[in-house]
Amino acid sequence: MTDATSAAAMTPDQLAVVDACLDVLRQTPSALITDIDGTVSAIAPTPFEAVVHAGALRALEILTGCLHTVAVVSGRAPADGAAMCGLPGLIYVGNHGMERIVQGAPWTHPAAEAARGPLAAALAEIEAAVRAQEEAPWLLIENKGVTGTVHYRLAPDPAAAAALLEPIALAAAERHGLRVSPGRMIVELRPALAVNKGTAIRDLVADLGLRGAVFFGDDVTDVDGFLALRALRDDGTVATTCIAVLAPETPEAVVAAADLSVAGVTACALTLEAIAARLESEGALSTPAEVRNELDDGNG
Ligand SMILES: [Mg+2]
Repeated sequence: MTDATSAAAMTPDQLAVVDACLDVLRQTPSALITDIDGTVSAIAPTPFEAVVHAGALRALEILTGCLHTVAVVSGRAPADGAAMCGLPGLIYVGNHGMERIVQGAPWTHPAAEAARGPLAAALAEIEAAVRAQEEAPWLLIENKGVTGTVHYRLAPDPAAAAALLEPIALAAAERHGLRVSPGRMIVELRPALAVNKGTAIRDLVADLGLRGAVFFGDDVTDVDGFLALRALRDDGTVATTCIAVLAPETPEAVVAAADLSVAGVTACALTLEAIAARLESEGALSTPAEVRNELDDGNG
């Protein structure tokens, strides 16, 4: 898509988002950071069926040639994110910052490693406890290694499923020293560590010496990223902007923490394509990152 065609297809609000992002991304070195599910990939009935929007994928690939860093920061396992995107030039932060893959090299937070056993035990207990109450064909439990997701999107009555599931998940997490956090038709279990998308993004900015960072996200776990970037901006350290990708079920906290919004995954993809087209037409802003080994030093 050319700059002209992408601009012609966009609303004034979308063009304002593109301009805000471009202002930040021209602060070199800079990064475009995005969540996956609900942001560049439409929410699917199950996580295994989700596919990254082709336009977003094209834009991310172009941006790897224009920007210092293009990163995915997701709740998925980083290898899963890498498989979905298939772009080796991206940094893949996964499991809410507990893990990442940089230039093909995986890293896991050392303290999160210890959670693998407790997590598997807690997920098994949740499944047993739910199925003891009802057959729950809607129940989908995803063990992502150092975090886990219990999905109830397939439930005929999601509110009833959440009411059944949440106290069970909370009790199992407490028994095994884990934390629970809600999301869009999911309950997440994670290690009780002060690691989240916000700390992960702050570490990326610091480790890579970034002067600008844009983050696209759609859910409550992305709010940590939005707030981290807002704090850096308020410090005068880094230019940032945060874009909420909206859906009918978008939590209010997401909108409140973001600077701007786009109306869904397709609009997000269109926005990314317009950003990529503009930056590509301007030429590379900086040599794509030779990502440093400091990212693997275990400090985040
Ligand atoms: Mg998401």
